[in-house]
Amino acid sequence: MAAEIRLFPCLTDNFGYLIHDPATKATASIDAPEAGPVQKALEREGWTLTDILITHHHHDHVGGVAELKQKYGARVVAPHDKSARIANVDQRVGQGDVVKVGGLLARVLETPGHTLDHVSYVFDNDKALFAADTLFSIGCGRVFEGNYPMMWDSLLKLRALPDDFKLYCGHEYTAANVKFALTIEPDNPALKARAEEVKRLRSENKPTIPTLLGDEKKANVFLRADEPSVAAGVRMKGASAVEVFAEIRERKNKS
Ligand SMILES: [Zn+2]
Repeated sequence: MAAEIRLFPCLTDNFGYLIHDPATKATASIDAPEAGPVQKALEREGWTLTDILITHHHHDHVGGVAELKQKYGARVVAPHDKSARIANVDQRVGQGDVVKVGGLLARVLETPGHTLDHVSYVFDNDKALFAADTLFSIGCGRVFEGNYPMMWDSLLKLRALPDDFKLYCGHEYTAANVKFALTIEPDNPALKARAEEVKRLRSENKPTIPTLLGDEKKANVFLRADEPSVAAGVRMKGASAVEVFAEIRERKNKS
């Protein structure tokens, strides 16, 4: 049976996510920005939390973990300590590990850069990628703890996933990301189409997530730093992908 996925807003602009296995009734929260909205979403569906899969140590991704673990006795899965310590962890995971949520399987990809400990969870059978603050729609996370080559490598790992996989990211930043991306690739038809779609979704007060990875590959400038059109957009023809990526990321920091 196919997994059921729910997304809902948390804090200011975070997404909360539940993934549910109808066969075993297991339910995982991907990160836990805060307990209240996760609990409400569980109650709405009549689901019980069995697992919490943490992507990285930032407070807006783990703030609700202690309370949810106490209430449901959920197992907490988190990356190995590579930066700050995450509390209440039952199982540590790294590159290539597979986490079971009932009958669902999540493959762990280490995607450092935003933080050193950042991991993404890939549910291959369900074609779902939970990339938190590594890859956003039409954007990527700020590089806080790692460096640009590290972050670019992480993005390449995610770009290697199939086009029909859905991207579930950590924040609703898409409108601002689109505005910025259009300064780099103003003539990219996929980006222009995404801009229209985002405008419509936001005017209807709907989330811009999930999005298809195939569409991101065509429209997300941060995944396209090795494309001549993107290098040309920052007047860096002939520069390496990492150099172009670093330039785009720094421009975004200042935007
Ligand atoms: Zn973060």
